[in-house]
Amino acid sequence: MADETTPQAAPEVHEFKAEMKQLLHLIIHSLYTHEEIFLRELISNASDALNKIRFRMLTDRDVVDADAEQRITIKLDKNENTLTLTDTGVGMTKDDLLKRIGTVASSGTLEFVQELKKQDGPVDASMIGQFGVGFYSAFMVADTITIDTRHADQDSTGLRWTSDGGASFSIEETDRTERGTTITLHLKEDKGEFAEEWRVKSIIRKYSNFVDFPVFVEDERVNTVDALWHKSKSEITDEQLTEFYKFVSNDMEEPLGHLQLSLEGVVSFKALLFIPKKAPRGMFQDDYKYGVHLYSTKVFIQDDAKNLLPEWCRFVKGVVDTEDLPLNVSREVTQNSPVLAKIRKILTSKILGMLESWAESEAEKFATFSKEFGPLFKSGIQFEFEHRDQMIDLFRFGSSIKESGEWTGFGAYADRMPSDQEKIYYVLADGRDAALRNPNMEYFRANDIEVLLMTEPVDAFIMPSIPKYKDYDLVSIESSDLKLDKKKGGLKKGETKKLIARFKDVLGDRVEDVRASDRLVDSAVTLVTGSSGMDAQMERMMKMMDESFAGSKKVLEVNTAHPLVKNLSVLGEQAEADGRISDAIEQLYEGALLLEGSLENPADFVRRMTAFMEQSTATPEYSTGDED
Ligand code: ADP
Ligand code: MG
Repeated sequence: MADETTPQAAPEVHEFKAEMKQLLHLIIHSLYTHEEIFLRELISNASDALNKIRFRMLTDRDVVDADAEQRITIKLDKNENTLTLTDTGVGMTKDDLLKRIGTVASSGTLEFVQELKKQDGPVDASMIGQFGVGFYSAFMVADTITIDTRHADQDSTGLRWTSDGGASFSIEETDRTERGTTITLHLKEDKGEFAEEWRVKSIIRKYSNFVDFPVFVEDERVNTVDALWHKSKSEITDEQLTEFYKFVSNDMEEPLGHLQLSLEGVVSFKALLFIPKKAPRGMFQDDYKYGVHLYSTKVFIQDDAKNLLPEWCRFVKGVVDTEDLPLNVSREVTQNSPVLAKIRKILTSKILGMLESWAESEAEKFATFSKEFGPLFKSGIQFEFEHRDQMIDLFRFGSSIKESGEWTGFGAYADRMPSDQEKIYYVLADGRDAALRNPNMEYFRANDIEVLLMTEPVDAFIMPSIPKYKDYDLVSIESSDLKLDKKKGGLKKGETKKLIARFKDVLGDRVEDVRASDRLVDSAVTLVTGSSGMDAQMERMMKMMDESFAGSKKVLEVNTAHPLVKNLSVLGEQAEADGRISDAIEQLYEGALLLEGSLENPADFVRRMTAFMEQSTATPEYSTGDED
């Protein structure tokens, strides 16, 4: 075994935290497919450590072994059944061993535990990369792991961390002199394949071909491909692109599309960016890592440069490499760099350009994009002033004249619109069915007017900020001043007035107003937005976020052509019908609330309904007398 270092003092034993023990237990005792990815994880950690030292040495060469070759070396021993991986990276301090190796770091780890528990067949280990359990994946194949390390700081000491994946790990000082880290896996008895040279080499070619540092297996360099983004488009094959995408994203699938750029001018940079087919796991969590890696002339700078792209692009993966950053670039520099601001501007418009061309000629791709990333994309307009109109053009919604699952946008709607229609109509709802059942749809259905179905939660938030598309007003079908064609066949003017007064009497200040409706066909009443109010869907969402949120008052519209409403009008002439009329009005009002999703207490509603049913089913023959 790699044991040139000798312990200095008695090892300190540390207990793993409870959730860590649980994770290790699951890792050790689950069955896997693709367990070979443990090697990808170890190489990726070694590469991270090498990136860190390379970056530090741009400005500070006062480190241990400043002249050491930056590389990764793998040694195999079939007799001992070990795999040993050494890097000349930044190494680890004791604190690193305790905090970065010894504890569960990210929320992803716990998610991973949940995921493992759910599985009943073998676990696909390829997903490990998405959860950040990296290092511990080695316990899939090893029964004991030793880390020998020495940090780059001149005053560091050699350290050894050992664990068998049980309850504890130990740390002791050693006299290691070289900078970097050596990880020794004592392989499980039945995992001898990972001490086989051919097997290890083929794993590296498959998963780690694009690592920035040379990887040697028994003195032979295995990874051959260098910075792909420095090649011209014609030099790169589709397979290489896919392979590179999988490498930068840890995704198992091909990307949905990619963008390769090489620009010189105000700012010079090369970029190779990808859009995944599926939203990356944890995309909305706080500790989600942005997936575009920033390089400065082939030297890795940062893998989470947030301001390289706008928030709504957080699903984009890939590499940006520029010559225009100062050599001593730091995180602070990248946060306010005018160079990055320029790159960001260019990348944003290039990505939008690509999406536009998909929308135009690659419908299926664009539909996938809209499905996976539409909500995030839509939320982006809050901060995107420059590209606002371009983005709005790419928003997609359902439509009352299209099948479920078909998407359309404002532009296509406007093209389909008859020449005398001046407005674009939409409805906010929490699903297609709910949207189509909305009584306010009746007029539009009866008159063959298309309505956009806005069923994503984000729609309710963005629509108030988009009053117009080109010259067309965007109007919710729930708004109270729609200026629709006058309805025929309703009550006479005087009758309407009387009945409406009756409604107002009963409902009091629960509604802003009661009016005769032009929009209803089949329904008797509907609620529409009051003068200052929000759409019902918007209100529902506000309530979800803030329980004390009080919605604004609505306007109740009454369909005076509806038989029930006509009945009420006639009944109104008979004094003795008083109770029945006010009950019916209550029932209509609460029914409208129920449809809208905002009836809070259904008890009275059900009680009245039972009473009405009792009346309508009453038969004079029924007697309570004795049976014969
Ligand atoms: P992640 O790489 O996502 O942070 P890992 O479990 O793979 O998660 O690694 C945990 C941490 O352990 C790393 O962030 C790093 O700080 C440290 N580490 C692991 N391997 C090495 C190494 N070869 N050299 C230096 N530090 C390492
Ligand atoms: Mg890692």
